[in-house]
Amino acid sequence: MKFVFFGAPGAGKGTMAAKAAETFGFPHISTGEIFRGAMRDGTPLGLKVKAIIESGGLVSDELTIGLVEERLAMPDAKAGWLLDGFPRTLGQAEALAAFCPEDHVIDLEASDEKVLDRLSGRRMCRSCGRSWHVRFMPTAKPGICDHCGGELYTRDDDREESVKVRLENYRSQTAPLQDYYRRRGTLVTVDGEADADSVWTVLKGVMERLVSARQA
Ligand code: AMP
Repeated sequence: MKFVFFGAPGAGKGTMAAKAAETFGFPHISTGEIFRGAMRDGTPLGLKVKAIIESGGLVSDELTIGLVEERLAMPDAKAGWLLDGFPRTLGQAEALAAFCPEDHVIDLEASDEKVLDRLSGRRMCRSCGRSWHVRFMPTAKPGICDHCGGELYTRDDDREESVKVRLENYRSQTAPLQDYYRRRGTLVTVDGEADADSVWTVLKGVMERLVSARQA
């Protein structure tokens, strides 16, 4: 099945999509992770997007759509996928609808206050890309990923100035997609305010119902 994980930066898309990928077996495709991987490896794509990403801006639709279209055509995405961080603009949503329409859009709702709290203490793993939080989701050993033992770091775009730009972009360009997906009948809203374990319990139930309704 094809799920889009939707929500503001810090709403929990990455954390929930990683759990859902483990549980349901669909590949977790995060455009942010693809860009960060390219930046880490110093590829031409990484060099192209580095300044935009670090300042909190959005990469162009043309580049992002091409990348996602290519990724969704790979064999592991044939039976379904979990998209995290795409689409972020109406152009991207319309492109996805044309080349590989979603079954459901999971909209994780969280207040501005919660989102800011989460972004300010977020730490990412350099190796597997998982996100942790110094207070809400601490690792057993500070600075070390519980999942793979990789080193944790603070994303450049989690700094205050970039966070402001990201939230503005979310409000002006991405949040209007809620209406777009409501009209398509694919929007499913999940309360993302609570701690990760509680949100996951609810979300897992929602996804199980959607998957079994599809199989029935
Ligand atoms: P994320 O990990 O989803 O928060 O994405 C990190 C950054 O990558 C964003 O702030 C954007 O700069 C860029 N990015 C990720 N996905 C997209 C997208 N769908 N469209 C444009 N830029 C994106």
